[in-house]
Amino acid sequence: MEKSRVGACSRRNRGFHGVPTRCWCGEGIDTFISKTHKNPFRRFYRCKIAMQKGEAHLFKWVDEALAEEISLVEARQRTIEEDLEDMRKTEKSEDDGASQNNGCLGVITWFCCKLW
Ligand SMILES: [Zn+2]
Repeated sequence: MEKSRVGACSRRNRGFHGVPTRCWCGEGIDTFISKTHKNPFRRFYRCKIAMQKGEAHLFKWVDEALAEEISLVEARQRTIEEDLEDMRKTEKSEDDGASQNNGCLGVITWFCCKLW
């Protein structure tokens, strides 16, 4: 099973929100550069099979994927901040001592490791 955080989301809804790692057909994807007049030199992701056979496989503009990826990260960060805020409140009510400072940093590190 792949550990990719994006992969887990895209398998669920097939919408490939954020940066895609694989086409829905299972094939890997590559980045290419558009040569159309409408989108000159714009980079996009495309399924490797689609480039050979011209079938309808995954296609996504790189800039749009990155914009989605950023909004995903922002949403995730908001959740972490809210969780941390809750923890800080809990911690404060339990113990007001200065000895808790290191523990707080540990919690943040733990969160980052878990989510990334
Ligand atoms: Zn494909």
